[in-house]
Amino acid sequence: MEWHEILIRYGEISLKGRNRSLFVRKLKNNIKSAMLDLKSIQLHAERDRMFLVAESSDDLQQAIFRLPHVFGIQSFSPVAQCSADLESIQQKAVEVIGSAETEGKTFKVEVKRQDKDFPMVTSEIQREVGGYVLSKFPGLVVQMKKPDIVLLVDIRKEGAFLTSEVIKGAGGMPVGSNGNSLLMLSGGIDSPVAGYQMMKRGMSIDAIHFASPPYTSELAQRKVMDLTERLCSFGASVRLHVIPFTELQQAIVKQIPANLSMTTTRRMMLKVADLVREEIKANGLITGESLGQVASQTLESMTVINEVTSTPILRPLIAMDKLEIIAIAQQIGTYDISIRPYEDCCTIFTPSSPKTKPKLEKVHYYESFFDFNPLIEEAVRNRTVIEASELIEDVEAFDSLL
Ligand code: ATP
Ligand code: MG
Repeated sequence: MEWHEILIRYGEISLKGRNRSLFVRKLKNNIKSAMLDLKSIQLHAERDRMFLVAESSDDLQQAIFRLPHVFGIQSFSPVAQCSADLESIQQKAVEVIGSAETEGKTFKVEVKRQDKDFPMVTSEIQREVGGYVLSKFPGLVVQMKKPDIVLLVDIRKEGAFLTSEVIKGAGGMPVGSNGNSLLMLSGGIDSPVAGYQMMKRGMSIDAIHFASPPYTSELAQRKVMDLTERLCSFGASVRLHVIPFTELQQAIVKQIPANLSMTTTRRMMLKVADLVREEIKANGLITGESLGQVASQTLESMTVINEVTSTPILRPLIAMDKLEIIAIAQQIGTYDISIRPYEDCCTIFTPSSPKTKPKLEKVHYYESFFDFNPLIEEAVRNRTVIEASELIEDVEAFDSLL
């Protein structure tokens, strides 16, 4: 059969009151923007579920491909609707089951009777609908435990809704329903995953990247743009701020002893990021740090780096193993981009043995000989801001050259 309707079930059902209406409103907007080019699609949101209706069945197929990426959806199902009487339900059930392979398959009917005025009880409806379907498809075998096909029938006042397929959604909360933050995005494996994790919790994000031309190349920037574009596919537009970091790094190399220059570099990055965050009115910063992974990611080191700001720094990967992070990167499609070779601004200027337990007093002491603030402000002012729409167009243009 041709489907024209999808039933969307929300995640986070424990949400109450105002939060719920914000959640539903954001989810509706995000689905809408993920389907912008599919002209025949309309959305009808209710308190506890949403319907996506498409006149064109091609549009509906496309929607089925895209919905699993949108946060805030627990699961969804293509549904058929009919009036809430036994005969109509039986006819519709045959149409729905007929759209799948039935020979030798196991099967059961599950009925939810929300309309308590419906003249039959659940077990009766199950029996009547199941019996009718079996009479039309003799190849089916009834099985209560883990059958191949479950026909779900939801009987409500406004009609009966039938479906035989439940597709898993991305879970989480709609992007934009839980504040906004600035993601520090390197070209590595971790930071895109960190951004994804916070988007999954409903945060909208901007990304900031530190580049040190000519020591870092165009290709390194290309990579970060591609990563940002990937993050955009999760139902939100992500803007990218590229910071010219060369002068600050040169000053650091000149002023700070080699074994502390990594610490100061991180501190300066954080100061710049915090100023950009303030300008775009974001609430927090996000990094891809994971405890103990490298010298700058010990608790002692993070404490000294963190000292430059009281802004909350979210580190969703802090307790994760590299292999777990890689598994997510692969699943969300950032891994292949992240492993492209590139020069990171930090690694170029960093000594081979940075301190794992830097002392704050020493860092303050060496930083006190030079006023870094003018360079910090200049870096913020001279940044390049790339809008999500430019990223997407750019990637398409780039791909067409390949
Ligand atoms: P990643 O895989 O995200 O690069 P990493 O394990 O290599 O992380 P570091 O290079 O120490 O760790 O970086 C720690 C965090 O600092 C990164 O996850 C990222 O949030 C931020 N960061 C590092 N380099 C940059 C950069 N060039 N631009 C923006 N943020 C950066
Ligand atoms: Mg890195």
